[in-house]
Amino acid sequence: MLTHYLCEYAWLPSGVARDVLIAIEDGRITRAEQAGWVDDHIRHLPGLTLPGLANAHSHAFHRVLRGRTPGKGSFWTWRDQMYAAAAKLNPESYHRLARAVFAEMALAGVTCVGEFHYLHHAPDGVRYADPNAMGEALLAAAGEAGVRITLLDTLYLQATVDGDPLAGTQLRFGDGTFDNWYERFGDLKAPAHGRIGAALHSVRAVPADAFGEFAEATSGLPVHAHVSEQVAENYACLQAHGCTPTELLDRHGVLGGHFTAVHATHLTPRDIDLLRGSYACFCPTTERDLGDGIGPARALADAGAWLTLGSDSHAVIDLIEETRAVELHERLVRQERGQFEPAELLRAATAEGHLSLGWPDAGTLAAGQRADLVTVALDTVRTAGIDPAGVLMAASAADVRHVVVDGDVVVADGRHTRIDVARELSEAICALF
Ligand SMILES: [Zn+2]
Repeated sequence: MLTHYLCEYAWLPSGVARDVLIAIEDGRITRAEQAGWVDDHIRHLPGLTLPGLANAHSHAFHRVLRGRTPGKGSFWTWRDQMYAAAAKLNPESYHRLARAVFAEMALAGVTCVGEFHYLHHAPDGVRYADPNAMGEALLAAAGEAGVRITLLDTLYLQATVDGDPLAGTQLRFGDGTFDNWYERFGDLKAPAHGRIGAALHSVRAVPADAFGEFAEATSGLPVHAHVSEQVAENYACLQAHGCTPTELLDRHGVLGGHFTAVHATHLTPRDIDLLRGSYACFCPTTERDLGDGIGPARALADAGAWLTLGSDSHAVIDLIEETRAVELHERLVRQERGQFEPAELLRAATAEGHLSLGWPDAGTLAAGQRADLVTVALDTVRTAGIDPAGVLMAASAADVRHVVVDGDVVVADGRHTRIDVARELSEAICALF
């Protein structure tokens, strides 16, 4: 079926343009260009239409913690609270929660999520009757919420870089051995709206002698890993291996064009150099919530790494805010304004994010691309009167009014077309307490 939209403004590869006609057929954009005419029969999209936003780093269940972890503490005390939340979930409750969280993402203009999934097994670490029941719950949840998903099934084998065994809630994360993980991973099937990728949780959670076989076994797939979020993990890696986490991953052939370093916060100049040609996923709202630090986004981009963005712990689900935070945090560090071109920030949130998740045909408003449209209202109290090209410095997720994913309308007039999102979030979360 052929559908036409007339966008008041649209962010095309050449920049923001007015009166843009977008034609969609079978879930693909067939035309995206400035219109020389206006026809009343065409669906009008007032506001600024962006390409689909890719949330490249998510742990859906962390949404449970929003507003529930006040007070003092560190990343590590927060992690204890996160483990307590993880201990409560089963495939049914995880499906219900993730469906609501992914629907919240759709409301924020996210058309594709990278779910970094390590909550694999029953609380005692024993496999469910279906060993992939939790991963399949996430895949189904995304489909029902109307967003695409790359399930990054995560290898998690030990508690510390020194090889301490998993204990407590961590037992749910582990498969015991690389071979057990690989066997289970091999049984995962991607639905039409999904891709299967892999993750190596971190240099502390996987023994270095498994990195090589992991890299070989996952060749050609999107591969993600947490890298240098905390100074303590760098220090432990230096003590155990005499090098940084990035150097260790490089030694074993994990880095490259399919690899995403998530966080990449505490890097040496050599680390930055090594990440040339890989992706670096910044999650600034989470990184500031957890007091992680500010990663060298500008230096990474200058060195030839591709920036992507994620809402990670979902303290906030707002990819526009993540783009703005990359720019504003860099200003604080350098004490100077204007560190990124708006188009660079948009590419991080759209095309680069989709590429890092294995979707090269999404994230740009151009013929041949997947038909993802995210329309931001320009008549709200935040956006009224702005230059549309300045939207990333002004708007929030609350200004996203219309979202199309693969040609399907998922959000209309600011409401999810299938899910009462606030109600489902409330019910899914309150049922766990
Ligand atoms: Zn993470």
